[in-house]
Amino acid sequence: MGIKRIIFHIDMDSYFATVEQQANPLLRGKPIVVSGKEGSRTVIVASSKEAKKFGVKAAMLHHEARKLCPHLEFVEPDGAKYEYLCRKFINIFKQYTEKVEIFSIDEAFLDMSGYVKNWDQAIEKASDIKDLLKQELGDWMSCSVGIANNKLLAKLASGMDKPDGLFLIHEKLKQSILENIELTAFCGIGRRIKKRLTGLEVNTVIDLQSYPLEKLIQEFGKFYGTKLHNMSYGVDSDPVIPDFQSAEIKSVGRTYTLPSNTFDKEEIFSVLMHLCEKVGRELRRKKLSGKTLVYFFRYHDFSHGGFRLTLPGYINDSVRLFDIALKRINDFVLSKSVRLVGVHVSNLIKDYGQLTFLDPDKKQIELLPALDKINDRYGELTVKPAYLLKLKRLRRKVGGFKLNN
Ligand SMILES: [Mg+2]
Repeated sequence: MGIKRIIFHIDMDSYFATVEQQANPLLRGKPIVVSGKEGSRTVIVASSKEAKKFGVKAAMLHHEARKLCPHLEFVEPDGAKYEYLCRKFINIFKQYTEKVEIFSIDEAFLDMSGYVKNWDQAIEKASDIKDLLKQELGDWMSCSVGIANNKLLAKLASGMDKPDGLFLIHEKLKQSILENIELTAFCGIGRRIKKRLTGLEVNTVIDLQSYPLEKLIQEFGKFYGTKLHNMSYGVDSDPVIPDFQSAEIKSVGRTYTLPSNTFDKEEIFSVLMHLCEKVGRELRRKKLSGKTLVYFFRYHDFSHGGFRLTLPGYINDSVRLFDIALKRINDFVLSKSVRLVGVHVSNLIKDYGQLTFLDPDKKQIELLPALDKINDRYGELTVKPAYLLKLKRLRRKVGGFKLNN
């Protein structure tokens, strides 16, 4: 039987940490993490393969990581470097097929159907890509390639043989692999879905395979119920969507972890102002406007709060973003102390020059490019609305680069 599709999932190994090691040979072979300064309250963004051996993982707190690995080194994130190299390797992938879907800053799917005829050729091509990446990005950089006849299994395969792996899930191997993985190994089953499945006494992939489809649909709806059912059999017909076809950016957001937990609304307003400014700036730079706004808090116990609203029109101006937050947060009762504040805008459209604004205040809009220029040159918020003047400056810059999803 001929192979219908051949899909690669390519995942850069310990991406941010490896990039830092590539850039600085003194860090190579050492357990390092990419994160804010040690002692700051950010979590670990990425850990090197050497740090992973100590059990140091992304999203860990600094003191937890330090306990596991006493000689751990901390490196501050440099988003520009990661984006630059990402563009580079995506261009390499595009030499092999025009169907490249950027899945995240360090992962992509390649539809290789039509470029390779069988699994042997696929493995050969994958090795070529791995070699070329080292040549072009640096010899410390490595990736893991998963090969299968769909995206679901290709993604699973790339995680099977990390780091520097190459793994093929052949039709014949499929069932035995599925029987031996955790449900959460599937891209699409996170902690919350897993919890709901446990509630249905579905604990393994085999359980999911034998769970009646109509009951899954009852619990999760038609779309996701069917998806889960298919997933359990390794079935997935989702196409690889090249970036030129997709709406590239779905949302723009920023978060900030406070230096210490607070109930102080003034302090929260000051953080919010900067986040709105950052988000607004990014929207304008990308010529986008959005109408669904989310303002959220993470409390000291890691629970969440905040609010979400969809406006009748589109905005991308920082002051308006902040105004909306201000009005609502004034009435908002803070039940717990806040450790992280976030602003997120989605439901985006291109080209903010159009007359799609909510209550357009033309003067303000016309002023924006000029204000951006001044702030670009002299620093963030050199020019700002008068009522923001009394708010104190943040103690450190807004970090994190989990910007879009
Ligand atoms: Mg990766």
